Amino acid sequence: MTRMLLRCGQLIDGVGRTMSDAAVSVENGVITRVRPWTSESSEDVARHDVVHDFGDRTVLPGLIEAHGHMGLLGAGLERSAAEIAAQVFRNVRQALREGFTTVRDAGGIDGGVAACVSTGLVPGPKLMPSGPFLSQTGGHADQRDRWHGHGPVTIPGLVRVALVVDGPDEVRRAAREAFRAGATQVKVCVSGGVSSGGGLDRCQFSVAELRAAVDEAEGHGTYVHAHAHSAASVRHGIAAGVRHFEHGSLLDRETAELMAEVGASLVPTLLVLHRMIATAPPETAATLTALMGSMRESMLLARDAGVVLGSGSDLLGIGQRDRAEEIVLKSEILGPMAALVSATSVNATILGIADRVGSVAEGKVADLLVLDGDPLTDPGVLIRPGAVSAVFQAGVLAPREGAGDAA
Ligand SMILES: [Zn+2]
Repeated sequence: MTRMLLRCGQLIDGVGRTMSDAAVSVENGVITRVRPWTSESSEDVARHDVVHDFGDRTVLPGLIEAHGHMGLLGAGLERSAAEIAAQVFRNVRQALREGFTTVRDAGGIDGGVAACVSTGLVPGPKLMPSGPFLSQTGGHADQRDRWHGHGPVTIPGLVRVALVVDGPDEVRRAAREAFRAGATQVKVCVSGGVSSGGGLDRCQFSVAELRAAVDEAEGHGTYVHAHAHSAASVRHGIAAGVRHFEHGSLLDRETAELMAEVGASLVPTLLVLHRMIATAPPETAATLTALMGSMRESMLLARDAGVVLGSGSDLLGIGQRDRAEEIVLKSEILGPMAALVSATSVNATILGIADRVGSVAEGKVADLLVLDGDPLTDPGVLIRPGAVSAVFQAGVLAPREGAGDAA
């Protein structure tokens, strides 16, 4: 049995509490005790195999990403399978290095990527892939070339963007295919999107098609989550039994109240818009800025209605960095503590893993992030170069920078 003792300048427990000068005991990767550091703790040191004194640093639960896309690298038919694999795993390693110990990949990677991490072949957060998006023909994730029908690159076990399906039977079969390839939940598109050229206010899939996906997911003991921007698309999903929604940028009060009533969750995704605005030509930037404004308003409507509010970056492309900037942006709207809680214990609840991770408490897995700074008074520390002092996965220190990982 390995016994580890951590002394933390400040502890943020992930459910809204803090403790200054805290002692956290870990045995075999599980947190066994959380208490203030006392003279008794000093005597305790000898009874532990490993002691980390983090001085005035802050310890918090490992961050949880509820909406990643490690495998959506952007256009790149010229890339080799080797290069695609290298880029995907670089995204995976970077997320861990930045303090994320769990990532729900909301579409694009197969279970083979998650298996490379869980077997220790590649360092990375625990990955929970949704597998390919399920999309109707012409829907948000139907990324085939319009006239020639060429699809985005599919490499079994690594990346597969979408299964384009129509009718309840095809949807059911696609969900089964996703689970067969290692998906831990299924992703559907119930509205258009920014990256697919609009139609944010339109509904996609029929209620019967969505019910088939929900039914199949429940049969696998899990759930469906939905790409949905408009209020109408969220209500459409709710009518079919979907209870987890992504983006939700065009909500209204009635829909937010309905979401709360049925226990639906929302994962707003500010960072992807923030990054797109920074690089878009002026006209597009104006449209995206307006959408960002309505996403903020929708998020506040949802919060005020009592909707479970998670946190996701929706980062895309190669070289994904500073994923925690999502929490920095959320801090400006919800306050730092609420933003941190959404990215830890609330995300754990949405992902169905709150019994194991998402908070620093007895019985939880010791997935921990150590920061040189205080994210409650200075959220920017989450993405400040060099501020991540350590990341623990089940009580084991995660590897730091490796060769080829710069830039
Ligand atoms: Zn997404």
